[in-house]
Order: sequence, then C-alpha cells, then structure tokens
Amino acid sequence: MAISTANFKDSKVIVRVDFNVPLDENGKVTDDTRIRGALPTLKKVLADGGALIIMSHMGKPKGKVNPKLSLGQITDDVAAALGAPVQFAPDCAKAKEAADALKAGEVLLLENLRFYPEEEGKPVGVEKGTPEFDAAKKEIKERQKEFAKTLASYADYYVMDAFGTAHRKHASTAVIADYFDAEHKMLGFLMEKEVTAVDNVLSNIQRPFTAIMGGSKVSTKIGIIENLLGKVDNLILCGGMTYTFAKALGGEVGGSICENDKLDVALDVIKKAKENGVNLVLGTDCIAGDAFSNDANQKVCPAGAIPEGWEGLDAGPESRKAFAEAIRGSKTILWNGPAGVFEFDNFTGGSRAIGEAVAEATANGAFSLIGGGDSVACVNKFGLADKVSYISTGGGALLEAIEGKVLPGIAAIKG
Ligand code: AMP
Repeated sequence: MAISTANFKDSKVIVRVDFNVPLDENGKVTDDTRIRGALPTLKKVLADGGALIIMSHMGKPKGKVNPKLSLGQITDDVAAALGAPVQFAPDCAKAKEAADALKAGEVLLLENLRFYPEEEGKPVGVEKGTPEFDAAKKEIKERQKEFAKTLASYADYYVMDAFGTAHRKHASTAVIADYFDAEHKMLGFLMEKEVTAVDNVLSNIQRPFTAIMGGSKVSTKIGIIENLLGKVDNLILCGGMTYTFAKALGGEVGGSICENDKLDVALDVIKKAKENGVNLVLGTDCIAGDAFSNDANQKVCPAGAIPEGWEGLDAGPESRKAFAEAIRGSKTILWNGPAGVFEFDNFTGGSRAIGEAVAEATANGAFSLIGGGDSVACVNKFGLADKVSYISTGGGALLEAIEGKVLPGIAAIKG
C-alpha cells in the first residue's frame, strides 16, 4: 500500500526511521537532518489520528547496551521536531505494555534496536570462519525472527522509512515486514522520495552523466566504481583513492593513504574505463601536508611525486580544474565522497571546487544527486545544500540502489 492512501485513524503504527544522528560529547544532537527527514511520515500518522511507535538504531553498539548510544538522549529533539510529547521505552524488546497503552496522537520512542544482537542478526563474540560461527549464525537468525515478531506485535501497521539502513536485512528494516500483510505495511514518504531520486538517475539518465567518487579507499567503493563504468560518461575519482591510482601508475605517494593490495584493481579500472569509452578523471596533483593535521605545512605536488614525510590531503589546482570542467558540462551528476580531508578547514578546497561546479551545473539544468554522510556534510559546510537537486540520507544504501541492487528494506515491502 502507498502511504498517501493509508488512513491510520485509531491504529498503532510502528515506523522504522534512521535517527542515527551525530551527537557531541554531551549527548546533544549536532545535526538533526535525519530527524527532520522522517517528519512527513511521522506527522501523517498523528494527523490521521493514529498512535506512533518510533524505532531506530544509533551507532554501532554491537549487540550490547551502551548508554552513550541511547536514543533516550534525543527524546526532547524528537518531541520538539514533532511538536508533541514523546514517551521513551528503555528496552525496545519489552515495550508491549507501553505500546498497548498508547492512545491516538501519542508517541513512543523505542531504545536503540542494536542494543540487541538480534537486530542485525550477526553472531557476537564468535570468530568468523569457525564451525561455531556457522552454528551461532543459524541461532541468531532464528532469534532475529522472534525479535522482529515482538516489534511487530506492538502495532497494526509497519512503515519502513529508514533509507540509510534499507540495504541491510535487519529485524526492523526487513524481517519485521513478514508479520504484516500487504495492506498493513508500506514505505514512508522519505523512502518514496529516495527511491524516486534513484529512479531519476537510473532510468532517466540525461547525458553526459558524471559520477564523482571520493572518500578514503578504493576497496570500499570498487563495486560501485565497476558498476558505474558501464553507465557513466565521466568518472571522477578523487580523495584518498587518488594515491592508490597514482602508485599503480608508477608514482611515489609519500605517506599518503594508499592501498598497496589494490594496485591491480586500480589498473583494471583504468583499463575498463578505456574499453567502455568512459572519460576517467583522476587527480593529477594534490595539496600535500607534512602531517595529518589541519595545521600541517602545505605544498602543491604532482599526485605521483609526493616526497617522503608528506601526504596528499586534498586535490590540487590542476585536478580541481579538470574535475570542474567535467562536472560543468554534465546533465546528470552523482557525488559520493569528499575530494580531500574536508574535516580539516585548510584542506577543503578540492571538495569545495566540486560542490561549486555541481551547483553551477544544477543551475544550468543538470540533475544532481548527493549521497553519503561526508559529501552531504561538505554540501552543508559550503552552504550549497539548496543549490543541488537532491541530497540523499543514504550512503551505502544509495550506492547499492544505484548499482541496481534490490534493497532488502524495499523488497520486504514490495515483494
Ligand atoms: P569514505 O567513508 O570512504 O567516504 O571516506 C570519507 C573520508 O575520506 C573522510 O573522512 C575524509 O577525511 C577522507 N579522505 C578524503 N581524502 C583523503 C585523503 N587524501 N587522505 C586521507 N583521508 C581522506
């Protein structure tokens, strides 16, 4: 069922959201984008006259209770955003009574789902590859079903609105859907918006299509990079990946981040780009620092001629120009991952140049999709959020969707 046609009057609705928001050392929310992202769905439940049960994970507590990752810390923020009081259930698996007592218009926030290993369904404390691991995995998968069933027992409807975790087959993102029939489960408004944005990129590609992949490592992005080689006209590879490519091409990269076991993978990407007629744009120069620090001394060097004691921390002027040129002429743009250590204010120039070129292309009619926490943080940091077409709340989920993979969180609803 589509959420717009649902009527939640006098019903209990359990909504999986992504409230994995950043907190400061005092447990205060520093960026409430994700809370705001879920509001259309949450407000619809209340406006219809339903009772709302909100569930989410926060961080990686690995199946153990960790007060630093308690969702109790954000109850006031959720209440302020919703404009309604929010009750808190300190044990997500023992909230039946509290859920049963909810009246129309009332809101219950469950404690961090990942305090239970059942949520992720991964064995804890057993080494992978051992016979014990296989047995433990089987056992936890069974317990995962029970956990999902318990969560399902709280409500009449299940709404999946956590795009950021939709690529995971967890109890609350997918398994729970088995306990609701087609008329009582649906995607939330945020999920629908994300799916439409991905469809826009995949099924309605206006060319040239440019993908910008940055971030720290080749290894975590190789799947999507290989996939994109079959789809894009321009592929810009930047950030820490630059140095694995520079080394693979015979360069010296000093102390730069470099995956020595991925040099062949880098060469293969270069070869495949040529075969597919993809314009591969690699960083040719960099801003190197003499320490991994915002206050490091800086100098511009070729990406493949970085002296010992120096490391590439941002894209250099020549690279920025090449990136911007490819981006400016594009009609569809996907950006994931920064071009440098953008967390250091003195090394933001490369990421800023990309963001500005994306904004310019968007002003000229391109559709630009930004995904992944760090690229979104860049766009926010540079004040460009309203100058791009769409900012996704998903990182890994967005990339898997762009790869054409069916996300378990969507499959669970749509079959
Ligand atoms: P990822 O999680 O793979 O998307 O990587 C994001 C991280 O990559 C950010 O925290 C950046 O600081 C980091 N990064 C980008 N460029 C570099 C670089 N040249 N050296 C080290 N880290 C980098």
